[in-house]
Amino acid sequence: PNADLTGPAYWMPFTANRRFRQSPRLLERAEGMYYYDVDGRQVLDAVAGLWCCNAGHARPKIVEAIQKQAAKLDYAPSFQMGHPLAFELAERLAELAPSGLNRVFFTNSGSESVDTALKIALAYHRACGEGQRSRLIGREKGYHGVGFGGISVGGIVHNRKHFGPLLPGVDHLPHTLDLDRNAFSQGLPAHGAELADALEALCQLHDPSTIAAVIIEPISGSAGVILPPVGYLQRIREICSRHGILLIFDEVITGFGRIGSAFAAQQFGVVPDMITSAKGLTNGCVPMGAVLINEAIQDAFMHGPEGMIELFHGYTYSGHPLAAAAGLAALDVYQEERLFAVADRLSPDWQRAAHALHGLPHVIDIRNYGLIAAIQLEPRPGQSGQRAFEVFERMFREAGILVRVTGDIIALSPPLIIEPSQIDQIFAALADTIRATR
Ligand code: PMP
Repeated sequence: PNADLTGPAYWMPFTANRRFRQSPRLLERAEGMYYYDVDGRQVLDAVAGLWCCNAGHARPKIVEAIQKQAAKLDYAPSFQMGHPLAFELAERLAELAPSGLNRVFFTNSGSESVDTALKIALAYHRACGEGQRSRLIGREKGYHGVGFGGISVGGIVHNRKHFGPLLPGVDHLPHTLDLDRNAFSQGLPAHGAELADALEALCQLHDPSTIAAVIIEPISGSAGVILPPVGYLQRIREICSRHGILLIFDEVITGFGRIGSAFAAQQFGVVPDMITSAKGLTNGCVPMGAVLINEAIQDAFMHGPEGMIELFHGYTYSGHPLAAAAGLAALDVYQEERLFAVADRLSPDWQRAAHALHGLPHVIDIRNYGLIAAIQLEPRPGQSGQRAFEVFERMFREAGILVRVTGDIIALSPPLIIEPSQIDQIFAALADTIRATR
């Protein structure tokens, strides 16, 4: 379809990059591993929509739960009121989360989860009588959504450069010492602790008692699946604990089975003070995010220096009944089908198929973990991103496979119901397409 839907009648999510202003590809229907476009073409979904439909599309149990809930209670005010499903979902999330993270604040997206977590961090320190802790630390190449908090702590410069002024008092940790080509292809590099010491350096620079929180993605997703070097997250945790700084893991992508456990925190054996989540929480079916919070943080609000602290924060749609119903049904499907174990089980197949692309023209790095991968292409001189975009387009048009492209990177994160034969199909098509791309 070439209809121009990008005019004033319909404002597509935009990016300043000219290539992406082309006509949208219109999807009409989805089921399991597949999308169907308005022309009836079947497209294998190798991204789970946008890293969110972890159990695949149109799962009957989730569809039914949403339909039933819509007919029963379409909306409940989120202030002074509620409904039982939101509490039930909060309890289920607390059971899945690392121990101690058993307070839940519902939002409607990953961006809102991030801004909520940052606000909680600042308010927490104030509640503890440490209001001077106002500095926030993110990471270069970090992606934390598009709210003002998220772009301030986010480290993808392009995403924030037109939107100042941003939050003051923000620093960004260096991402990795050597993002040179093939740095990660042979496994995780081992200098994590050394890299994390940049946080200690910032503590010395600013005085650690001025720092409120550090926010990081355990695995950077949007920047192209960049894995933490061995020991990195552990050392960051250690430094934060030593200085009373809150550690927030942004698990909007890595949550809900994407890398082999409910959350990446469990996979890496590091417990943060808060986890931001969204996407897979409802299997992408209804917008919803959540911040999982250590109960000690909530307790600080209950027993501040002058008694209980009244905070004002919350969204009209926090804990929306349809989202809560979708979330509960999604968790049922994940658990009944043991989908959080799939990424571990399939990762040898996934890794082998991904790394078979080594040696192809233009391929300069391949990174993977669980059921997530990125293929980094060498940019065409003077045309950054063009080559990867062509691969994306050809994959969609010619191979009937949806992949994600950002810059010169092709990212993959299929639904966890993928079959081994579909893994082979995706990487074989990618190999052919990359070979055929100038
Ligand atoms: N944090 C991370 C790590 C993300 O990957 C994303 C979305 N890709 C967000 C936050 C923002 O989520 P949303 O688009 O739902 O606001």
